[in-house]
Amino acid sequence: MTAQLRVGILGATGTVGQRLVAMLEGHPQLVVTAVAASDRSQGKTYGEACVWRLPGDMPSALRALPVRSPEPPLDCDIVLSSLPADIAGPVETQFAAAGYAVISNSSSHRMDDDVPLLIPEVNAEHLALIPRRRGFIVTNPNCSTIMIALALAPLQSRFGVEAVVVTTMQAISGAGYPGVASLDITENVVPYIASEEEKIERETLKILGRVEGPRVRPAEFPLSAQCHRVPVVDGHMAAIRVQLGRKAEPAELRDAFTSFRGVPQELGLHTAPLCPILVRDEPDRPQPRLDRDAGGGMSITIGRIARDRVLSHRFVALSHNTIRGAAGAAILNAELLLAEGHLRLRNVH
Ligand code: NAP
Repeated sequence: MTAQLRVGILGATGTVGQRLVAMLEGHPQLVVTAVAASDRSQGKTYGEACVWRLPGDMPSALRALPVRSPEPPLDCDIVLSSLPADIAGPVETQFAAAGYAVISNSSSHRMDDDVPLLIPEVNAEHLALIPRRRGFIVTNPNCSTIMIALALAPLQSRFGVEAVVVTTMQAISGAGYPGVASLDITENVVPYIASEEEKIERETLKILGRVEGPRVRPAEFPLSAQCHRVPVVDGHMAAIRVQLGRKAEPAELRDAFTSFRGVPQELGLHTAPLCPILVRDEPDRPQPRLDRDAGGGMSITIGRIARDRVLSHRFVALSHNTIRGAAGAAILNAELLLAEGHLRLRNVH
């Protein structure tokens, strides 16, 4: 007999859904028992419906699973949702009302008062927002926000943060499949990603805020974001300028980043990287092709740490948008929920 949690993936045929499937193959606690997608895929097996776009083969155990409609009941204990935001909201509410724990990549519920916007290394204490009923929703942040909030967390706790200016360069896969038309993005940069700047600005402040009673009081520093789509397949980058609350040598920021650890590292969670933040000292790093897979795609990489002439300091951060920024983030959230007793394993034969 083994103790496992049965997982249903909503949006299992998509960019994030395929990452979830790949990362859950052989997971010690989580086993995929249900997949759901649009009516284009329903009624087919996962093997028929899904054009596998990751290196290697689709996990063979899933090939014969029937693709269901994303509505309860599904043959699983929890659902990981990677549905498009325009349909995720009511679907996730419906699953939570039916008693499922919903762990979502979508933006629909991120700012709800009773929904933790969780990065386990940064704000595990926000799990206190979960309502005391069986069904609930926990979300991971936007793919760029995760990297930005992870980078700011150690600075906020060691020096205080008074202002932040962020400029992102975001990969094509962040738009899902088929994403941005090749004729729009080849040899080009698009200085617009719908709603992205607003998401980064409000989500980061919720994540770095404090739980006060039934909601989060957001962090209060001003944060301004500009977002750009660039011709990179995977790996979001952000140039970040920050005004710290006290004077600090760049070496102190470096130390704050490299020594940063959180609850997942203390608990040794399966998907947690040893170091959530890595620092590269070479003058031309981080780079998407070279650094996005650091820590199995779960570490972010920071470089170019320096004083700044306008705010106090600046640096560049990079993370894998479909791993740390999406699928890996959701799986780490599920592992934290298990470790903290919000989810329970079941004995299966
Ligand atoms: P995607 O590649 O377009 O995949 C969308 C998935 O949702 C597919 O499985 C698709 O099924 C399914 N779907 C589409 N319309 C549906 C409908 N009406 N009913 C049921 N299922 C439907 O998108 P993605 O990049 O994986 O993104 C999924 C979610 O994660 C989005 O909310 C996105 O904002 C969020 N997210 C993405 C990233 C990233 O880096 N890509 C990062 C963080 C968060 P079919 O195959 O049947 O069409």
